[in-house]
Amino acid sequence: MEIINRLESEVRGYVRSFPKVFTHAKANKMTTEDGAEYLDFFSGAGALNYGHNDEVMKKALLDYIESDGVTHGLDMATDAKQQFLATFEDVIMKPRNMEYKIQFPGPTGTNAVEAALKIARKVKKRDRVLFFTNAYHGMTLGALAVTGNASKRGGAGVNMPGATPIPYSGYFGEGRDTADDLDMMLSNSSSGLEKPAAIILETVQGEGGINVADFDWLKKIEALCRKHDMLLIVDDIQAGVGRTGPFFSFEPAGISPDIITVSKSLSGYGLPLAITMIKPEYDIWAPGEHNGTFRGNNHAFITAMAALNEYWRDDKLEKSVLRMSDRIQERLNGILSANPAFKAEVRGRGFFIGIDCEQAELADEIAAECFKNHLICETAGPDDNVIKVMPPLISPDADIEAGLDILETAIKTVLD
Ligand code: PMP
Repeated sequence: MEIINRLESEVRGYVRSFPKVFTHAKANKMTTEDGAEYLDFFSGAGALNYGHNDEVMKKALLDYIESDGVTHGLDMATDAKQQFLATFEDVIMKPRNMEYKIQFPGPTGTNAVEAALKIARKVKKRDRVLFFTNAYHGMTLGALAVTGNASKRGGAGVNMPGATPIPYSGYFGEGRDTADDLDMMLSNSSSGLEKPAAIILETVQGEGGINVADFDWLKKIEALCRKHDMLLIVDDIQAGVGRTGPFFSFEPAGISPDIITVSKSLSGYGLPLAITMIKPEYDIWAPGEHNGTFRGNNHAFITAMAALNEYWRDDKLEKSVLRMSDRIQERLNGILSANPAFKAEVRGRGFFIGIDCEQAELADEIAAECFKNHLICETAGPDDNVIKVMPPLISPDADIEAGLDILETAIKTVLD
C-alpha cells in the first residue's frame, strides 16, 4: 500500500523514519501489511511500556465495551474512574507513602504539564518557572515555553513570561554544579534572578537525548526548592511507569516532588490518559478552572487498572528491567570498544538508554540501517544525534539480544 503523504501535513513525523504501513502488533513486535515482522525498540515513544495488545488489558477492555460501559470523556463519576483511582491509591501511592490529589488535566502528557505549570504559578502567586537545557515538556504554548530545545519550538518563537532555562545536571562537567550556581543566584538579590514559582525537570531527559540526572543532584534541587520556597515539578511522562525500573523514575533519589506529571504508558494499552499529581495542600484549583472535554477516558481507566494490577502488585517487572538494563549497557559498551573509530557514549537507566553518536548523520544512518533489518528505534537529542534503545519492558531477553545483534551489525555497516 502506498503511504499517502500527499494528504498528510508536512509536519508528519514517524512515517518518515519508518516508511512502512503497519497493520498488527503483539507484545514487542510490529507487523507490516505484507507480513514482515519488526522488533520494537521504540515502545510508541514510551507509551507502550507493556508492549502491544497485552492479553489481560485487552480482555478487560473488551468485557467493558461488551457490557456497554460508559464511554463519556468528561470527568463524570463513573465506576471505571472510581476503580482506577482506588487501584492507583492502593497499588502505587500507599506502598510508597505518597499522598497526592489526582487531576485529570486532558488526554495527553502536554495537558498534564500545562496544568502543573498553571497550578504552581497560582499556588506561589509568581510567574517564573525554571527549566533545564534540552528539557522536553510538550507542544502547547506553556509546555513549549519550558522546553529547552530550540528546534522543538517549531519556529513559533514561543516564550512565556518567566520561563527561564538553566543548564541540566552535569552540564558544566566535573567540579561545577548548576544546583550550587542556582542557589547562589537565588540567595543574592543582585543576581537579578527573581524568585521562581517552580522548577520543572525530567530525571532522565528523553527527547533531549537520554541525559541522566545524578540522584545527588536531584536531592540538591529538591533542597533548593525547599530553601527558596519553590515547588518541584517532576515530569515523569516518559521516564515514569517503569521505563527506568521503578514505577516513578525519582524513587531511587528519595525525593518527594510537589507535583508529578504522568501519562504515556499510564493507560498501558496506548490509549490517551494523563494525570497531574498534586500534593493536597497545593490543590487550590477552583472548580472548573482547568476544563476540557476529554478528561476521563473510561476505556483508558479500564486498561490502566488492569496494567497496575498485573504489573505493579509485586516487583518482578522492576527487577527484570534492572537486570536486563545492565546487560544492554554492557553489550552496547562492548560494541563501542570493538569499534574504536566510533566515538560514541552509552547513557541511561532501566530500559531508557541512548547511544550518543555525537553526529546526527551517523545516528540517522544507523537507525535507518536498523529499520532495514527490521528493528525499530528512533533518534533524539538536540541534533537527533542519539539512538534511543527503549524496548517494551516485557520483551523476552532473547529478543533484546536479537535486537542488539541488529544494532551491532548496523553500526558496523555504517562505519565501514
Ligand atoms: N513530557 C515529556 C517528558 C515527554 O517525553 C513528552 C512526550 N514526548 C511530553 C511531556 C508530552 O506528552 P504528549 O506528547 O503526550 O503531549
